[in-house]
Amino acid sequence: MEAKVNNSRISLARGDITEEATDAIVNAANSRLIGGGGVDGAIHRAGGPEIMAECRKIGGCPAGGAVITTAGRLKAKKVIHTVGPIYKDGKHQEAELLASAYFSSLKLAVDHGLKSISFPSISTGAYGYPVEDAAEVALKAVISFLSANKGIDLVRFVLFSDADLKTYAGVLKKLT
Ligand code: ADP
Repeated sequence: MEAKVNNSRISLARGDITEEATDAIVNAANSRLIGGGGVDGAIHRAGGPEIMAECRKIGGCPAGGAVITTAGRLKAKKVIHTVGPIYKDGKHQEAELLASAYFSSLKLAVDHGLKSISFPSISTGAYGYPVEDAAEVALKAVISFLSANKGIDLVRFVLFSDADLKTYAGVLKKLT
């Protein structure tokens, strides 16, 4: 499924984010930038040790922020590591922090001249954010960023399951 916002495209696909050939792929990292499971483990395994070496130098990143490193041997040019919120009950700034994770990643991409970017479903794995709510926050944040900023041609969401793809597609349809 696809949608247009200004001159940019948002596209949804099912797949493995480590195989994306967009300029940037986004990692759902933890705040110490030390390897975890899920997307993070997959990116470090596929991209090789260069990525972790840069993460160690950077040292950490607060929830809602983002940092950028090499993509090692991945097809993408850069990996943007963002830290989503750990979901408690929805009353601990989770939505604000999740939106900020998307904004910070997009801003970093623009600052580095990267024109296409692939996101996983941040915070909806180990961090427990309900997928439908997270999809709404994620897509609203991306639409709002693309409405206000130039520089990004393509934003892809690469969802790991058919169920997640369906959820994101339903929300995107509602919002556009
Ligand atoms: P978080 O800690 O932010 O919740 P996770 O990595 O645990 O991050 O999960 C985020 C989402 O990414 C989950 O939906 C998970 O199924 C999905 N995921 C895991 N591996 C991959 C991958 N290789 N490509 C795309 N999505 C993935």
